[in-house]
Amino acid sequence: YFAKEGRTGVEVYLAEKDRNSPERLNLLGDLRRAVGQGELVLHYQPKVSLASGAVEGVEALLRWWHPDRGLVSPADFIPLAEQSYLMRQITQHVIDAALEQAACWWHSGLQVPVSVNVSARDLLDSALPDQLEAGLDRLQLPAGAIQLEVTERILMTDQAYTADSVRALVDLGIPLALDDFGTGYSSLVRLQRLPVDEVKIDGSFVQRLGKSVDDERIVRSIVDLVRSLGLRSVAEGVETEEVAQHLREMGCDAAQGWRFGEPMPPGEMTVWLQERLSAATYGRCEPAQVR
Ligand code: C2E
Ligand code: MG
Ligand code: MG
Ligand code: MG
Repeated sequence: YFAKEGRTGVEVYLAEKDRNSPERLNLLGDLRRAVGQGELVLHYQPKVSLASGAVEGVEALLRWWHPDRGLVSPADFIPLAEQSYLMRQITQHVIDAALEQAACWWHSGLQVPVSVNVSARDLLDSALPDQLEAGLDRLQLPAGAIQLEVTERILMTDQAYTADSVRALVDLGIPLALDDFGTGYSSLVRLQRLPVDEVKIDGSFVQRLGKSVDDERIVRSIVDLVRSLGLRSVAEGVETEEVAQHLREMGCDAAQGWRFGEPMPPGEMTVWLQERLSAATYGRCEPAQVR
């Protein structure tokens, strides 16, 4: 049973009940309200260079403070939202909030790119490049102040690399990263033809470095493959220095994980960045208002 494997209540009833179950509709209703009521907030996790420890960027990760259920993980509600029109609305909210936060950091001297996760349907929506272009323009940010992360599953489809929206994003100069690499249907040919700059190796492989010879081989060959294509490799879920050391030795470019910094609320992230970026002075930076 799912529950015994430590799944949450949300996942259990999603697995067991059908699409129109009252429970499901309930959560969708809650989610619809959450978007308007400021229950959806972004936390930020640093990405650091494995060679130098320098900060290379921060990833925006969605959090839902549900009034009764407490903190609901994105893994529990994003899949549900993706099956409804709500996903588009959530993504719009996430992009607005992340852009505002990026502008706040950028214009106060903390110039790190902010990565935003987008789902499959968002990527194929021509409203996405339009929203990003307008936002960057309004906040006077360069395209490199933002990055989009898309999971391997969608980018590996034919649709993705022929889509006008993807072309528009590339034309705008917005960098793309392939998220959760290794969990989907990898193809070398596809990877070569995709307009991605960065490949993020899924934490499930990374976490077993030093424990599993198979996973060590997998991670090493991904790092080599990514390098040979002229792209950057980023390891996700790096929890220990031992794992970080393995990755350095393999020549992996960058890492994210508890070893370097957990996802944190905007104010904490600001302090973290101020302590690590070496500019002499910074302007004031109030955490962006998340609606
Ligand atoms: P992801 O983009 O692959 O994000 C990495 C996940 O690993 C995050 O989970 C992060 O909190 C977690 N993590 C970071 N460091 C460590 C570590 O050292 N060890 C372990 N075990 N985990 C670590 P989170 O925040 O629960 O997000 C889960 C997924 O939900 C994300 O995976 C992403 O696919 C999706 N997601 C998050 N925010 C958004 C969003 O705004 N929009 C969309 N469409 N999806 C989102
Ligand atoms: Mg991600
Ligand atoms: Mg990932
Ligand atoms: Mg993931």
